[in-house]
Amino acid sequence: MKITIDSNSGFCFGVVYAIQMAEDELAESGKLYCLGDIVHNNMEVERLKKQGLEIIQHSDLENLHNCKVLIRAHGEPPSTYETAIKNNIHLIDASCPVVLKLQHRIREGYENSMEEDGQIVIYGLEGHAEVNGLKGQTNNNAIIVMNVEDLNKIDYNKPIKLYSQTTKSTKGFLRIVKEIEARLELAGNKDKIKFESNDTLCRQVSNREPQLIKFSKEHDVIIFVGGKKSSNGKILYEVCKSINPNSYFVSDPTELNSNWFVNVNTVGICGATSTPMWLMEVVEQEIGNLNLVTT
Ligand code: SF4
Repeated sequence: MKITIDSNSGFCFGVVYAIQMAEDELAESGKLYCLGDIVHNNMEVERLKKQGLEIIQHSDLENLHNCKVLIRAHGEPPSTYETAIKNNIHLIDASCPVVLKLQHRIREGYENSMEEDGQIVIYGLEGHAEVNGLKGQTNNNAIIVMNVEDLNKIDYNKPIKLYSQTTKSTKGFLRIVKEIEARLELAGNKDKIKFESNDTLCRQVSNREPQLIKFSKEHDVIIFVGGKKSSNGKILYEVCKSINPNSYFVSDPTELNSNWFVNVNTVGICGATSTPMWLMEVVEQEIGNLNLVTT
């Protein structure tokens, strides 16, 4: 049985940058707080915890003073920076440049939309760290939509500016755009009300879709390695599953099932932008160690 790891899988540059910043600081001081999981992958978080990383929540930040706190790639709302100044916390800002640029665009869009009594709509998951950071740019006034039902929250008599959380799917974003257009038409406002749709999906994620489609076709079985909390992991796994029904999601090697590999000739291992290469290599080794029947 031939096992291949997808060379295009593994950390995106935003995650590489955040982990590098954490490791540099840990090498120097041996202690660093991180606001939320540094990456949506438990195994990688555990590895960094052993080096001295301590994961804290926003409620903890209020009680911390005179220390260093890492902001992960997802970014943070302005309120986090305000708390840090108040508590003399030195922020090590590892917000991904793509997210920072999007925060800036939304802040500008919000300021402009206030002049025309418009609405900022973000296609994303309510409560997700990145979405909280984006919403914070609008004084928490942005409307968050995750699915077509959520579009009832929008007023179709007022201008709309739509943005997307960076890790959502292209297909999902286009569906939301079409549905907003249809509702504007239904309200008789298609030519009267301004609708601006901004495709702000991260190409590090969306470019992986066509690569994964190709990879999924080339193997009998696909093992997708990702954290249970990873947003892009879920999306990318669904891409694999839609192409190759013999696709399985695992968070760690203990979840492998030998029944998946019976009479199988080729196995492809791939992962999310938050999946470390070392973990895919461990999964590869574990599959090799399973007692398998092949033709
Ligand atoms: S997926 Fe894109 S936006 Fe998100 S951290 Fe990676 S590079 Fe940055």
